[in-house]
Amino acid sequence: MATKAALEAQLAVVAGFEAPKVSLEQYPTPPDLAAHLVHLADLRGDIESTTVLDLGTGTGMLALGAALRSPARVVGVELDPDALDTALDNARRVGASAPIHWIRGDATRLPLCLPDDQPVTVLMNPPFGAQRGNEHADRAFLDAVSRVADVSYSVHNEGSKEFVESFVADADGELTDAFRATFDLERQFDFHDADRRELDAEVFRIEW
Ligand code: SAH
Repeated sequence: MATKAALEAQLAVVAGFEAPKVSLEQYPTPPDLAAHLVHLADLRGDIESTTVLDLGTGTGMLALGAALRSPARVVGVELDPDALDTALDNARRVGASAPIHWIRGDATRLPLCLPDDQPVTVLMNPPFGAQRGNEHADRAFLDAVSRVADVSYSVHNEGSKEFVESFVADADGELTDAFRATFDLERQFDFHDADRRELDAEVFRIEW
């Protein structure tokens, strides 16, 4: 298996959102966090020969990270066609060899059927539900995940652990790993007053 550092270097070419939409909470996953998540998932046996689903794939960062390892296939689902254009460009830049399918649709009402003879791993950095009008967006995503995934890795905003734990317990799943991560975000939206901003996030591995 290649190193995490090698994966991060390969993901450094992934471009961000061309015109990020605040209503969709379009924050790109930084390459170091994407590499961390994918490498960890691969070490745990959750990537090789599995179907990897990236819900709210945006720039394609997590999907492409997985595609640089050895999954059976990768599927990126995204509502915004402009973001999918960016993901397609990024796929060309990264040049991963695993088959990748890009699907335009609502990840909370998954527009696809998956083969049931292969394990499904979800990797996602969904909308956090931090914007007004979009509250609990991560709940709808977790709900979709609970229906299709054997295991998932998801990024949430700080302070989500209690909510995620109780959601997972209700679904008879198990939260097996939890760790904190810091996003170093470049200024993206007008309401950000600093050029760079740090966002505290939490990452969870869940067996469903
Ligand atoms: N993981 C991506 C994007 C994170 S931002 C990356 O690293 O680039 C969250 C993404 O979810 C955005 O691209 C947004 O457009 C998308 N999104 C929001 N609601 C969605 C929905 N209901 N279905 C599919 N995608 C959605």
